[in-house]
Amino acid sequence: MGKQQEFVLRTLEERDIRFVRLWFTDVLGFLKSVAVAPAELEQAFEEGIGFDGSAIEGFARVYESDMIAKPDPTTFQILPWRSETPGTARMFCDILMPDGSPSFADPRYVLKRTLEKASAQGFTFYTHPEIEFFLLKNLPGDGSVPEPADQSGYFDHTPRGVGHDFRRQAITILESMGISVEFSHHEGAPGQQEIDLRYADALSTADNIMTFRLVTKEVALEQGVHASFMPKPFSQHPGSGMHTHVSLFEGDRNAFHESGAEYQLSKVGRSFIAGLLKHAAETAAVTNQWVNSYKRIWGGSQRTAGAGGEAPSYICWGHNNRSALIRVPMYKPGKQGSTRIEVRSLDTGCNPYLAYAVTLAAGLKGIEEGYELPPGADDDVWALSDAERRAMGIQPMPQNLGEAIDLMQRSELVAETLGEHVFDFFLRNKKQEWEEYRSEVTPFELRKNLQVL
Ligand code: GLN
Ligand code: MG
Ligand code: MG
Ligand code: MG
Repeated sequence: MGKQQEFVLRTLEERDIRFVRLWFTDVLGFLKSVAVAPAELEQAFEEGIGFDGSAIEGFARVYESDMIAKPDPTTFQILPWRSETPGTARMFCDILMPDGSPSFADPRYVLKRTLEKASAQGFTFYTHPEIEFFLLKNLPGDGSVPEPADQSGYFDHTPRGVGHDFRRQAITILESMGISVEFSHHEGAPGQQEIDLRYADALSTADNIMTFRLVTKEVALEQGVHASFMPKPFSQHPGSGMHTHVSLFEGDRNAFHESGAEYQLSKVGRSFIAGLLKHAAETAAVTNQWVNSYKRIWGGSQRTAGAGGEAPSYICWGHNNRSALIRVPMYKPGKQGSTRIEVRSLDTGCNPYLAYAVTLAAGLKGIEEGYELPPGADDDVWALSDAERRAMGIQPMPQNLGEAIDLMQRSELVAETLGEHVFDFFLRNKKQEWEEYRSEVTPFELRKNLQVL
């Protein structure tokens, strides 16, 4: 048994941990958990724990349902909100087939495989997510509009604001689980919060995001409110993005940095952005996977003026341009290591493993093929006319999930990155969601038409 495994077993004993939750993620990004007794763990490390994969979204067809969850000891953490003794801990798992080979249905494996591809080219992929979400007084399940937990706005510091206690408690728990938080503040909409995690390699970040969502929901409940990661719960307020700052390192060297170049951005950095732009539309179904996602990446500041909308709707890049899909942040002199680009399309309802996998794959493609970066957009792209944007070659993001599915369906890049199994399941599932949505007669239509027609 390896050192990490021994450390886990010793800690279980020393800290009186009686429950060990084995975590993994389904294809849509929902956390799954099975608890094992510490006595079972030694065997779990050796052989994994068998479970019926056919009941998990996207995992297996019924006739090949046996799957194995094998805990990754490097992800061992005690769950601090279950502070009573005996305590509870968790580990993320890799999903294996009965013969011990990696499962093609495991989103964590999809990301690992893409990271290995980067690593074969000498790159490590770092990510720093800015996670936005809502705190709400209620979560009605009947389609009515929820009530935000507060009425504050961007960076507001309101006495006794629910957000303060919430953020303090959530951050304390995250830090105690080894997840460093860099910034936190109230976001633009009532009840909306943002918490930014310190950069880490993309696999750790995706694991951290899964943990983050759970911690956020637990802490919210403890404080008598609810958290939601729905991309756009309110028509009149901005939605929740998960902007992610990304960079590639070659050993200790930031491969995006080149002193003296425009924005200090290297050729590798420029081609990476070019890849992200070229493949933005076909990867949108993964980065923005819900019908509701497309209500966020539309209309920009015009529709949500003053409310801090600022979600990208057009496929372009800019230096410090918050209306662009990709933003190259201001360079701080002397900070070569921090040269990075901000991908602003992702929303908080995505499966982080798959979303980071397609993001990395698109950027790598740009590097491999030596894509040329089109000119940056300095203007506020929301304020331009359609004709002006067309003249600049700036395309909109897909207008809805249906369009995004059509584009994904024809994408070699997405098929290759997700692998056949996840690609097929994902498309089938999303087509079904789109068809259900299309068949609904909505309150909007009734309001518009019933009386006047
Ligand atoms: N909420 C915005 C989005 O959905 C971002 C606002 C901001 O961070 N400036 O992308
Ligand atoms: Mg931010
Ligand atoms: Mg923000
Ligand atoms: Mg941002």
